[in-house]
Formats: sequence, C-alpha cells, structure tokens
Amino acid sequence: RPVVHIFGVPVSRLNMKDTVQLLTQAVQERRPHQVVTANPIIVMTGLDDPDYMSVLQSAELVVPDGAGLVWATGVAGSPVAERVAGYDLLHELMKVGEDYHWKVYLLGSTPEVIQETANRLQKIYPGVLIAGYRDGYFGHEQDQEVIAAIKAAQPDLLFVARGADTQEPWIGRYKQELGVPVMMGVGGSFDVISG
Ligand code: UDP
Repeated sequence: RPVVHIFGVPVSRLNMKDTVQLLTQAVQERRPHQVVTANPIIVMTGLDDPDYMSVLQSAELVVPDGAGLVWATGVAGSPVAERVAGYDLLHELMKVGEDYHWKVYLLGSTPEVIQETANRLQKIYPGVLIAGYRDGYFGHEQDQEVIAAIKAAQPDLLFVARGADTQEPWIGRYKQELGVPVMMGVGGSFDVISG
C-alpha cells in the first residue's frame, strides 16, 4: 500500500474511503492492525525517542491526522489525497460496524468520561456492540488484567485514549497478544464524544 516517508515515519497515502475499506478487510480477515493517527508532535516524538520511532515504523497503518503532516507530504513531493483525522476515522469505522454488528472495546480517559462515551456511542450506533470499556489510568502491573478483559470481550475494534506518549507504545507492545483487528489510539476523542 502507498506510503510517503516523513522523517522516517511511513505515512499512508490512502484517502478516508480507502482507509476504511482496508480496515474493514482487516476485520474480516482478523489480521491485527495498529493504526496511528499521526501529527507533527507524534513525528517529533519519534525523532527524539528511538523506541517510539520503532513503534511508528512497525505500525500497520499511520494515517495523516493534522494539517501540518498533510502539508509535509506535499513538501516531500508525494502529497496525500486528504487528511484522515482520527476522530473522523473512529466515526467512519463505527458506521461500517453497524452493518456488520462489530464489537468495540473502549480503553482510556477517566471512569466518568469512558462510561459516558460508551453510552453515547451505543446510542448513536445501536448496530455496534460496545463489548466493554475501562478507564486509562493504570500502571504496567495491571496490563495483563486489562489485556485479559479485552481479549475476553473479543472486539473487532479497540480504541485507546491514554495520551499519545502512552497509547501508541502500549498498543505496540501488546498488539500481538491482543490480536484485535483494528487497534487505534484516539487521544482526546473520548473527551469530545462525552462532552
Ligand atoms: N489519559 C488516560 N491515562 C493517562 C493519561 C491520559 O487515560 O495516564 C487520557 C485522558 O483522560 C484523555 C486522553 O488520555 O482522555 C488524552 O489525554 P491528553 O490530552 O492529556 O493527552 P495527549 O493526547 O495530549 O498527549
């Protein structure tokens, strides 16, 4: 699939429609995909931190969130078709999920925010099953318990909001174990949905 490298980060050149189609196929084939919604801050973090960079480079899909990154792909001589914002991609995947009755797990934010997010998403997308949710304030000693709960829910989509510094390395570290077809960091999206 087509990518353009921005400071070593392979940014997908697919537009929103093709991105959704690719991830729909990933769900149907049960192939784990880590989706990173990249912006300039994420790329800069990667330049500062080799471990973070290796997470970005081994993600199955890095989409161009953020106008600065879209602009950079033009400067690199290989402009992407359009911005693929994480918030929009979340909603597009939920729409497709209604047709297929996908299961979704929501991880991150405070207990209040995640509960309200689960309620609202279930109301907006009744065809999708919110198979589970939990807040994002836990340490490494709880990782295995969190992973077990996610695996027991057998989700098709896993959205993780724990701040970019934490969520991408966390997904990267555990993606094989989790084995969820679409695992995506969504940053502040739950705060927006619940607010
Ligand atoms: N968050 C979390 N656990 C943490 C830190 C943050 O669940 O340890 C959540 C926070 O509640 C918010 C989201 O992650 O819903 C994004 O946080 P923030 O905007 O601080 O992170 P950024 O994306 O700006 O790094």
